[in-house]
Amino acid sequence: ATTVAAASTSADTADAECAACSRAPLPVLGRDVRVPLVTGGEVGYAALDYAASAPALQRVWDDVAAYAPYYGSVHRGAGYLSQLSTDLFEQSRETVAEFLGCRPDDELIFTRSTTDSLNLLASALPAGTRVYVFDTEHHAALLPWQRADRAQVEYLPAPRTPEQAVASLDVALHGAPKGPKLVCVTGASNVTGEIWPVRELAAAAHRHGARIVLDAAQLAPHHPVDITALDVDWVALSGHKLYAPFGAGVLAGRADWLREAEPYLAGGGATRKVARSGDALSVEWHSGTARHEAGSPNVIGAYAIASACKALTEAGFDSLVTRERELLARLRDGLAEIPEVRVLSLFGAGSARVGVLSFVVRGWNSSHFAAALSAEYGIGVRDGLFCAHPLVRTLLDTEPDEPGECGAPDAAPGERSLNAVRVSFGAGT
Ligand code: PLP
Repeated sequence: ATTVAAASTSADTADAECAACSRAPLPVLGRDVRVPLVTGGEVGYAALDYAASAPALQRVWDDVAAYAPYYGSVHRGAGYLSQLSTDLFEQSRETVAEFLGCRPDDELIFTRSTTDSLNLLASALPAGTRVYVFDTEHHAALLPWQRADRAQVEYLPAPRTPEQAVASLDVALHGAPKGPKLVCVTGASNVTGEIWPVRELAAAAHRHGARIVLDAAQLAPHHPVDITALDVDWVALSGHKLYAPFGAGVLAGRADWLREAEPYLAGGGATRKVARSGDALSVEWHSGTARHEAGSPNVIGAYAIASACKALTEAGFDSLVTRERELLARLRDGLAEIPEVRVLSLFGAGSARVGVLSFVVRGWNSSHFAAALSAEYGIGVRDGLFCAHPLVRTLLDTEPDEPGECGAPDAAPGERSLNAVRVSFGAGT
C-alpha cells in the first residue's frame, strides 16, 4: 500500500509539473509501477519502449476482464458461452475492419502478429509474383518473401527522402516483367519513427499494376490507418503494439489471393469436409476467413484489439498526435543539448515521425547506455539493431568518420557504433 501511495504521489507531482502539457485521454496500465535502482531505493518506471510492446489501455484490460468469465470456444460449441464467444469474435472482426476502413469485399483474418500476417500473405502469393521491398524494412516485412518459393524478390536500396522512395519504386516497377507484383512497405519505421509516403507508394504500385501491403505495426498505434483512403491492398498489424497485448494480430485486405491460396495452417476449423479416399485424404477447405484461421482462434486477443480500436476511435487520434509531437520536441531539444548524441534519421531532420526515435552517444556502447538508463534511472528503452539490421547499419555507416566515434569506450580506432538506443512512447506517456 505504501508503494502504491508513493507511486500515485509521484504521478500527481508529475501531472502538476506537466499542467501546461496536453495529455492523451487514454490511460494505460503500468503508470504506477516502481522499480529498484542500482544506487538503492526505487523510482517510478518510465516505460519508453512502446515500439517493442505497448502497455495495455486500461479500457482494453477492463473489457477483457469483463468478458473473461464468459470465455468459450469459438465456432465449435453449441453452449451459450461458445455462442457468445463466437459472436464476440465475429463482432471484433467487424469492429477492426471498420477501424481500418476496409472495403466491402475485403477480408480480415486474425493472426498472431504482424510477422504472422506477412508470412501468411507470403504463403498466398500467386506463382511467379515479383515482390519489391526496401532493404530498410523490419525483418518481419523483409524476410517472408524470400521464403515464398513461388516469388522473386527485388530489394530496393534505402531512399534518403520520401520522394526518392516513390521515384525508386516507380523506376523498379517500370522495368518489371508482366505478372503479379507486390510491394511491401512500412507505414512508420520502428527505428527512426519516420512516416513513409504510403499513399504515394500505393499510387505508384497501382500505376504499374502491382499490389501493395502496408506494414502498419508502428503506424497504427499513432495514426489512423485507412485502407480505402490510403488505397493499399492489405494492412498488417500487431495487437501488442496497439495497446492490446493478448497475442493477436491482423491481416486485412483483398480476398482473392487469400481465397485461392492453400490454407496457411492445416487443421480443424479451416476444413469444410475431410474424407478418407483409399490411402489418401480428400480435403475441402473453407474459402472465407476460416481458410486461414485453422485451430481454435484467440478470441481474447481479437476482442482486445477491437476494444483498443474502439477506445482509439472514441478518443480520436488528434490528442494522441499532439501529445506525441510535444514529447518528441522535448526529447529532440534535450538530446540536441548533448553534443555526443546523434539522432538517427533516413529522411532528414524535418521529416514527420511517430513517437519513436533512435540515437547513438559518442564514446558509449549503446547497450551499456540503455542498461545504465534502466539501472540508474528506471527508464526502460531498447538497444540493438531493432530487427532491422540493414537499415540500422546504413544509418550507423553514415556516422561522422572519427576514430573511436560512437563505438564502445574501449573501441578500436575507427570502430563505429554497432547498435543504437531507441526511445518510444504513445498513449498514457
Ligand atoms: N513491423 C514493424 C515495423 C515492427 O516494428 C515490428 C515489431 O517490432 C514488426 C513488423 C513485427 O511485429 P511482431 O513482432 O508483433 O510480429
